[in-house]
Amino acid sequence: MKPPLFEYSAPRTLPEAISLLANDPGAMVLAGGQSLIPAMNFRLSSPSRLVDIQHVDGLRGIDVSNGRIVVKAMTRHRELELSDAAFQANPLIRETIANVAHVPIRNRGTVVGSLCHADAAAELPLLLLLTGGAVVAEGPQGRREIAARDFFTFHMTTSRLPGEIIVEARFPALPPGAGWAFLEFTRRHGDYAIASVGAIVRRFGGRAEVSLAAGGISSRPIILTAAQDVLNGSDLSAGKLAEAGKAAAQAVTAADDIHATADYRRRLVAALVGRTVSKALSRVS
Ligand SMILES: Cc1cc2nc3c(=O)[nH]c(=O)nc-3n(C[C@H](O)[C@H](O)[C@H](O)COP(=O)(O)OP(=O)(O)OC[C@H]3O[C@@H](n4cnc5c(N)ncnc54)[C@H](O)[C@@H]3O)c2cc1C
Repeated sequence: MKPPLFEYSAPRTLPEAISLLANDPGAMVLAGGQSLIPAMNFRLSSPSRLVDIQHVDGLRGIDVSNGRIVVKAMTRHRELELSDAAFQANPLIRETIANVAHVPIRNRGTVVGSLCHADAAAELPLLLLLTGGAVVAEGPQGRREIAARDFFTFHMTTSRLPGEIIVEARFPALPPGAGWAFLEFTRRHGDYAIASVGAIVRRFGGRAEVSLAAGGISSRPIILTAAQDVLNGSDLSAGKLAEAGKAAAQAVTAADDIHATADYRRRLVAALVGRTVSKALSRVS
């Protein structure tokens, strides 16, 4: 199908882009177009105007400094995936992005676009939440940082206000010595996850500190707090991993859909917790 008629603007500056958005309630930001253009072609989305931000000054690049990786709005998935500096600071980023769609889509789609699209099964929202990251929004009222836990509010819904553009994402570096892992279950490589889990593990003496997040099992990516509670301070024995998996399964709120039943997702997330934590543990140094 073809998209409905729309106006198109290609601003060169951020104030111009913000003004175009703020003055037209039906306007939408166009970044890499890998989610928005298909949605328009399916007529699931009908913006009155596309504000194409690819030529806006200052919205490109990756800066790794002061313990964080700052990813500007027009940075493509593939640029971040291949960034050695980002990998050194947080190797979980590369492992996670490799699961997003396919290389041609990662060459066009932007990291920030994926965060703004906020699909509950997408990999990068989970990563931002798990690592305790944030986005920076700029709009008619100025600039503000929004923590990942406050940004993703529902499936394909964020706390971004009308007129705001997300100008960058901020991923913290991993703590020294931490182990990391991301695993997902899909029927075909490159699909959105039916269920996914990311883990960061640290060990202090014989005791563990574990961060866990999951995607695809709820209306947004979630921190698996009950599973974390089981594992934190423990020795991460097989018994504890199984107990944590059961606790994680309780967090599934997704209803049955064409991809999986809720019960299947509960079993998946339980298994993924054990595998992801074990893999992360094997990387603790
Ligand atoms: C075949 C296929 C398979 C895919 N598989 C996966 C997958 O497995 N996992 C996955 O996560 N994604 C998948 N995707 C989606 C892909 O990752 C998109 O690239 C990404 O979701 C959106 O990035 P984009 O730059 O293309 O954004 P666009 O499509 O341009 O925009 C997406 C949305 O975000 C808004 N937006 C974009 N940038 C900003 C900004 N800076 N400020 C405010 N709003 C903004 C837009 O207005 C729009 O609502 C797939 C896509 C395709 C076509």
